Amino acid sequence: GLEARSISAWFGDHKVLDRVSLDMPPGVITSLIGPSGCGKSTFLRILNRMHELVPSASLAGEVLLDGDDIYDRRHKLVDARKKIGMVFQKPNPFPAMSIYDNVVAGLSLTGVKVDRDHRDELVETSLTRAGLWNEVKDRLRQPGGGLSGGQQQRLCIARSLAVKPAILLMDEPCSALDPTSTRVIEETMLELRNEVTIVIVTHNMQQAQRVSQQCAFFLAAQGQPGVIVEHGDTDAMFSMPQDSRTNDYVTGRF
Ligand code: ATP
Ligand code: MG
Repeated sequence: GLEARSISAWFGDHKVLDRVSLDMPPGVITSLIGPSGCGKSTFLRILNRMHELVPSASLAGEVLLDGDDIYDRRHKLVDARKKIGMVFQKPNPFPAMSIYDNVVAGLSLTGVKVDRDHRDELVETSLTRAGLWNEVKDRLRQPGGGLSGGQQQRLCIARSLAVKPAILLMDEPCSALDPTSTRVIEETMLELRNEVTIVIVTHNMQQAQRVSQQCAFFLAAQGQPGVIVEHGDTDAMFSMPQDSRTNDYVTGRF
């Protein structure tokens, strides 16, 4: 699993997260919810070392992957990338590249070597796990950009899974998709739950309840950095929120 310990984050001298701690154990899908601008995406980018790519960005705190700090100076950036995959709001396959090559593209980007004999097998298992194999198995050489939005998003999930990450971070993965594709991706997440630790950011409260077992509510008061107001079991948070601000948010009175 993944554990964030007392994460604070800045862009220049603008503090956007204040001492955020969250345990994301294996077998549990965690939803990060909260209003726009409260630091959910920033938190997600800190979890896979993308935050440090922004020149003005800095952070404090620790991110432990199975007890090992990914920010330890002994570790290379690429090691975090191999173990911690990310899927974004807008599906971003390489549009002119074939479906097949899109799936294996993640390997070269992270320096994972798979010999030719095992590539076909890896492409098939990755697409199957992403719930896309049956739809594309007869058109693997066609461009990824020719797929529907929901298929492209599953292709991106397959590209992440091909690297065999321990953790999969998903930043509003369904917000550009229709309800049917959304459901397919939710099914995929639930099927992957015991193999990959999933953390999802969502503005869809029904989705948070359908897919996640743990929820964390982020909030940034006016002019203040984001904090986690409340976290815990998803059903408990939605039925009996402990904080009135959580209650206002989950009931849509925010
Ligand atoms: P949304 O729900 O709208 O996606 P969010 O919770 O994901 O919002 P973030 O994108 O993490 O919020 O932004 C948190 C704060 O950090 C905001 O004040 C935002 O303006 C700021 N911020 C985010 N990215 C950058 C950046 N690259 N440079 C400067 N400030 C940034
Ligand atoms: Mg965001």
